[in-house]
Amino acid sequence: MYDIRGLNEECGVFGIWNHPYAAHLTYLALHSLQHRGQEGAGIVCSNGKQLFGARGMGLLTEAISDEQLKSLEGYQSAIGHVRYATTGASEISNVQPFLFKHSKGDLGLAHNGNLTNAHQIRRAIESEGGIFQTTSDSEVLAHLLIKGKAKSIKANQKAALNQVKGAFSCVILNEQQLTATRDNCGVRPLMLGKVDGAYCVASETCAFTAIGAEYIRDIEPGELITFSGDNDVDYDTYTPDIHQHMCAMEYIYFARPDSEFQKHSIYQVRKALGRQLAKEMGVEADIVIGVPDSSLQAAKGFSEETGIPNEQGLLKNRYIGRTFITPDQSVRERQVRMKHSPIRDVIEGKSVVVIDDSIVRGTTSKYIVKALKSAGAREVHMGISSPPLKNPCYYGIDVSTHAELMAAQHSVETIRDMIGADTLTYLSVEGMHDVFKQYGSKGECNACFTGNYPIEIVDHLLPEVKEMKRRGV
Ligand code: SF4
Repeated sequence: MYDIRGLNEECGVFGIWNHPYAAHLTYLALHSLQHRGQEGAGIVCSNGKQLFGARGMGLLTEAISDEQLKSLEGYQSAIGHVRYATTGASEISNVQPFLFKHSKGDLGLAHNGNLTNAHQIRRAIESEGGIFQTTSDSEVLAHLLIKGKAKSIKANQKAALNQVKGAFSCVILNEQQLTATRDNCGVRPLMLGKVDGAYCVASETCAFTAIGAEYIRDIEPGELITFSGDNDVDYDTYTPDIHQHMCAMEYIYFARPDSEFQKHSIYQVRKALGRQLAKEMGVEADIVIGVPDSSLQAAKGFSEETGIPNEQGLLKNRYIGRTFITPDQSVRERQVRMKHSPIRDVIEGKSVVVIDDSIVRGTTSKYIVKALKSAGAREVHMGISSPPLKNPCYYGIDVSTHAELMAAQHSVETIRDMIGADTLTYLSVEGMHDVFKQYGSKGECNACFTGNYPIEIVDHLLPEVKEMKRRGV
């Protein structure tokens, strides 16, 4: 699907153990994680003997009806998922949490991230007679969890997790326990919280705020936490090989500004990115504006650093809903125009700094510059609060080819010319890293900016996967 924003979030997960309103709290938590995925949503609950689930396509309110939610009342534990399809087709069979019925017991699984060797493992399982119900990479992990021959659930989980490569923040539910785990590089976020004495985990802390939970801490890379019984907790790791590569784009764009990573607010991180950009940009102008919503904080920080007044120069149409598939460039541009509207009274006659968090294909930037100039801007200086996006992401963001990325194809000067700005400045990789460090980051993945991939990419190098991509399968 063509998307006018350019980048799409991956998924959001939530899990809660031993709470009388587990399904309802999961539903509320998923609401606040909706920005991470709007293609499908689901909940799987446990009553201690069996798992039950409900899932559907679309936004949470469309995916799970009141009747379905009511049918999950009274179960003590639950996991939930909101999905944006980064691998696997957009269809109901791929909507998570997955729920498997097996002679060993029931298994529920919800996963955020992308496995980079799922295709390879899937082929191996299929060659032994294994059958897959979905095209999702996450089902591979479920197969590995069920296939384990060890006596304990934990030993089987560790064995399975050590076979997969890539980015995963997962919640796994069975009749006896809820497990939360994060890949050994910590690419996607996963947080630990507590509500009314019950433990919960979520992709972002905004989910805790929504249900009145206390944010305890970030789950660490490689951690394997198991909740069972009457709020018993087992803290463990599945591997000693631990690295710190939290996705830089989570800080810059994906996470909600009211969420926190490492106890630091994303709102403050984005303001600091704006301050750093101001130091590097060194431009004079009458006003600074942010592209709503994710760049408003960076514009505020830019203003604080430079003293240039921060105004609201662009209005976002909040009711645009889903965009539609169109092969026609002129229709795409109209879609972009619907999304952001300039406020002439603020812009007219001014030299304007406009801050955005990224340029993907350039369609939005080009429109924004044109719209600001049409509204009477004397000059438009574009500042990007991240470095140029030059490389695909294999860890759960939907930009998967160099051809989709403007900065992979063109120099900064050519991009400036193509979008029609008077100047164009990107934040440096060093400046970005300094800001993250200042706000508690222990290390980031910055592969889409630098090409330094922290986790081995297996599938995309396989000839059959290259051929499938070429054919658009
Ligand atoms: S490649 Fe970019 S988008 Fe993907 S995980 Fe790394 S920083 Fe995030």
